[in-house]
Amino acid sequence: MKRKTLFTLWVWCAFFLLACMLPLYWLGWLPLFAVLLLCLGIVSLTVFALQWQVSEWLKERVGLLHQVFEHSGEAVMITDPGNRILDVNPTFSELTGYARNDVLGKNPRLLSSGRTSRAEYEAMWAALQSTGRWQGEIWDRRKDGAVYPKLLAISVVYDEVGAVQYHIANFKDISAEKATQAKLEYIAHHDMLTGLNNRFSLDDRLDHALAVARRETHHVALLFIDLDRFKVINETLGHPVGDELLIQVSQRLRRTVRESDLVARLGGDEFVVMLTGVGYANTAAQVAEKLLKVLGEAYVLGEHTLYATPSIGVAIFPNDGPDRETLMKNAEAAMYHAKAEGRNGFQFFDSRMNSVAVERLEIEHALRQALGADEFVLHYQPVIDAESGAVASVEALIRWQHPARGLLPPGMFIGVAEETGLIEPIGAWVMAEAFRQLAEFRRQGLQNVNMAINISAVQIRSGELLARAEALIERFELDPSWLIFEITESVAMAQPDETVRILDQLRAMGIQVALDDFGTGYSSLAYLRMFALDKLKLDRSFVTDIGQNADGEVICDATIGLGHALNLELVAEGVETESQFDYLKLRGCQLVQGYYFSRPLPAEEVIAFIRQRAA
Ligand code: C2E
Ligand code: CA
Ligand code: CA
Repeated sequence: MKRKTLFTLWVWCAFFLLACMLPLYWLGWLPLFAVLLLCLGIVSLTVFALQWQVSEWLKERVGLLHQVFEHSGEAVMITDPGNRILDVNPTFSELTGYARNDVLGKNPRLLSSGRTSRAEYEAMWAALQSTGRWQGEIWDRRKDGAVYPKLLAISVVYDEVGAVQYHIANFKDISAEKATQAKLEYIAHHDMLTGLNNRFSLDDRLDHALAVARRETHHVALLFIDLDRFKVINETLGHPVGDELLIQVSQRLRRTVRESDLVARLGGDEFVVMLTGVGYANTAAQVAEKLLKVLGEAYVLGEHTLYATPSIGVAIFPNDGPDRETLMKNAEAAMYHAKAEGRNGFQFFDSRMNSVAVERLEIEHALRQALGADEFVLHYQPVIDAESGAVASVEALIRWQHPARGLLPPGMFIGVAEETGLIEPIGAWVMAEAFRQLAEFRRQGLQNVNMAINISAVQIRSGELLARAEALIERFELDPSWLIFEITESVAMAQPDETVRILDQLRAMGIQVALDDFGTGYSSLAYLRMFALDKLKLDRSFVTDIGQNADGEVICDATIGLGHALNLELVAEGVETESQFDYLKLRGCQLVQGYYFSRPLPAEEVIAFIRQRAA
């Protein structure tokens, strides 16, 4: 019962008691009447005092509650049973943009943005009716039209008889929380460098795509993409350049495939494109072709212009695997196969490929042991002076005496060594061994034979090349002019400025420099002029063309002409027949190398060969 009613009741009681006491007065029982009147007076005074005290306390409490209402960090809105707004606090006005007078008597519907569905509102009212409270997120519109998410809690206040008296709603703007949440979500699903989806997100989307494809008997194609020699570019030109390359690659990938196809970066230079709703293997092949073309175009990275071709492996669901793990593994195996087939190509998965991937892994593992186990050897291929027929120099070519698989040619492991960074210690070993052997040749009286070694891109950048060469020259008491460093054209062109600098220093030391595999890269004449070169090594492919087709000969002639115009000595590689030799000699090629004269030989045999040619 309410306080006011109690008080009124007491006043009535007091009158009633007074009325009851009046007969005592008339009967003349004055002392008793006086005592009772006194008691009634005391009790009434006490009741009045209490009433006053309580009303003071209540005033204070109402004041406090008002302050809470006014200063609450959350917006508060009170509505009547007909859901008309009775009151709102200042935070409400701040948040919604509506002044108190704008909204009094209105339905809170005026706040809604239209973005929260009817069903959600219905669920809210159902909860309010059954439990008297509801909490959730809804989208509202501010007075200025801006839509924002808010966290809203509503409770229903009932009167004595259980009828709804008020609805009290309090809410706050959760745009900032939403934005943080969206950012975290983004970070969890994307690769930070390129903005592509990451592996986690690929797993998710692939599982989903496979589930749909199973239901609708569609195909899903996975294209596993790896950039050829990315590691070399990254290590020779530096990580910022590598990063920029990855960004450009990802932009090209994204541009080339449809919006609905997924492009993900797995890390490093590995990307996956997922094509859904693929009808035929042909579609995947067309996309792979397009990617090869687009990714194979020149990249301009700051002052560098370079080429980074991709190798692509394709696996298609359901033919190449029933689930995500198998498909990914098989697409990767197909990619390694594409690499082994000479890079810049694509391959469909074939069940025999898994053995290739395993073999590559085995090579990488064994290669790590090979240096310590002294399993490398150098063979030396003679380079012949076309005029005199004597051996002018030998080219040191590495071989790997593999414990189980026999003598392996460099094509089987140099690529892996470059990608894993093992080329650095291997290259250092080659240099030391070749220099030692050259000193040995000289000791054995072979006075006119020079030594050529192959330098990899990684060694050019490492900065240790010159110091190492200098130290070895001193240790073996060599004359630098007896040495020839061969650098392939594609390496030189991929990092022209670095190459210009290193070649200048090598030349300054007195070491000769040859541009290897000439004619296969993208040399511009401008760069050729800038490189401090002594020799051009005409690539084997041109020599093979001699006598085979007219076009090949025209290119071969033009290349020889270019060498002459630049005043460089020309070495023809891969000479296998007498007619090739005659042709080259006639065109003024000073040096020749190839099976026609000799295959690469172990040190002892090459010594015998040199002696025999000299005689
Ligand atoms: P390259 O520098 O172009 O070496 C010439 C390759 O052609 C050698 O293959 C040689 O055996 C082969 N060859 C020579 N004459 C003929 C011929 O008449 N016909 C045919 N068909 N082939 C001929 P190899 O020894 O297998 O070396 C392959 C490549 O491996 C080399 O190509 C070079 O780029 C790389 N390499 C070899 N040794 C080293 C090394 O110590 N360090 C580095 N970084 N790379 C090396
Ligand atoms: Ca070479
Ligand atoms: Ca070559």
